[in-house]
Amino acid sequence: MTLKIYNTLSGKKETFKPRNAKRVDFYVCGPTVYDYSHLGHARTYVAFDIIVKYLREKGYKVFYLQNVTDIDDKIIKRAKEKLTTPKALTKTFEKEYLKDMKALKVDSVTKYAKATDYLKEIISQIKRLSEKEYAYRIEDGIYYDINKFGNYGKLSKRTSSQAEDAVSRIDEGKGKRNKGDFCLWKFSKMNEPRWESPWDWGRPGWHIEDTAIAEKHFGSQYDIHGGARDLIFPHHEAEIAQMEGISEKSPFVRYWMHSGFLTVEGQKMAKSLGNFILIRDFTKKHSARLLRFLIAKTHYRSPIDYSEKLLFQAQKELDRIDEFVEKIKNLKTELPREAKVKMRASFSSPSKKDFENAMADDFNTPKAIAAIFKLINKGNSLIDKGKLGEKEASNILAFLKETDKIFNFIFWAKPKEKTSQVVLNLVKLREKYRKEGNWKKADEIRKKIQQLGYGIEDVKEGPKIKKA
Ligand code: AMP
Repeated sequence: MTLKIYNTLSGKKETFKPRNAKRVDFYVCGPTVYDYSHLGHARTYVAFDIIVKYLREKGYKVFYLQNVTDIDDKIIKRAKEKLTTPKALTKTFEKEYLKDMKALKVDSVTKYAKATDYLKEIISQIKRLSEKEYAYRIEDGIYYDINKFGNYGKLSKRTSSQAEDAVSRIDEGKGKRNKGDFCLWKFSKMNEPRWESPWDWGRPGWHIEDTAIAEKHFGSQYDIHGGARDLIFPHHEAEIAQMEGISEKSPFVRYWMHSGFLTVEGQKMAKSLGNFILIRDFTKKHSARLLRFLIAKTHYRSPIDYSEKLLFQAQKELDRIDEFVEKIKNLKTELPREAKVKMRASFSSPSKKDFENAMADDFNTPKAIAAIFKLINKGNSLIDKGKLGEKEASNILAFLKETDKIFNFIFWAKPKEKTSQVVLNLVKLREKYRKEGNWKKADEIRKKIQQLGYGIEDVKEGPKIKKA
């Protein structure tokens, strides 16, 4: 089946053709690790995790590269506030980010690349940009002259003068040639992290780490670059200007993919707006599984407007999936041979087809999930009529397991409940009484344990505790 991907560069869905047969070089902009991740981050990284897993299921060998920004203004500021070093701060939050991703089963990334591990590559890119006269020096750093790059604005459909309104703090240097010029290398003040360079001690600008990291692993051209839609401009536009400026090869990236925002009452969830929920706070109240499902239910390019109502609806749907899976796992109906054959031809196949068509159409996960629910509805109605056989049930189960290699929200191990210390102590005490032959006391303790919601089975190896 032909896979179509919406390409921000052309504004159209295009047939997917990687550069090298089945190999796909895939880069997604990673987090800036100065704080815990929120649901907005989860949205983008779960969406891309599903996309990469789907490509792998289709036989593509995907190298999924994600950078980790461990040096920038926000990091320096936060480290000062916390009376720590940027290095210590980013080490902590990189670990926390990876923990959050693990909880969400985001496990498809081939390599996480930290910006500060690529200083040599970053400096080499700036050198080449200087040689080609795209870069120039002013008082506080080295800047990129956007007017030198003829195609500036091709991704975001802006002209270079429209680039002026999106300058971030690091790009505000005195004496820039154009207002929209961005910083490649910022000379550092004392007490700021800094690296030696051919110009002066300093640190990289915002956009250069991504092209330097990608060039090291993929070369100057590759297949897919993703991120949330706020990165289209200026970040990804600047990346194109940097890499195509250096290599003189176009396109730098074949397919540009951008995820929609997770919003709250229509506003992007963001640290700066204070409307955020941390992933770890969400999972204390609900499950990581619910969050993953909530994200998968929406097409990656559409916004998700987060609300309690949305969560409630998603939980109800997950419960329906669970009920159905339980039913088909335990189904013991044997159907006469003829009915089985007829059923196989007419039952699962259309859902599989719908699922495949949906995913091949720019990863349309809501449509693919709708195909699963259609199957569940039909399955439930056949079970009620006693017309779903054991064999067909195992076909359906196999299909659900296949889809879950991509989605990871159907078969989710139930979290193991820890037995409370109070119960464990009581069990120990009961054992002591039993050994002493004090059966009366041992029985009293058993009752106490039962009142706390646990049962005890005495087996050869000792007492086995069970939640009642
Ligand atoms: P940051 O750590 O802020 O650099 O963000 C890391 C990634 O998460 C980037 O691709 C952001 O665009 C994305 N992101 C941040 N907030 C949201 C949001 N509310 N919805 C979707 N993606 C987001």
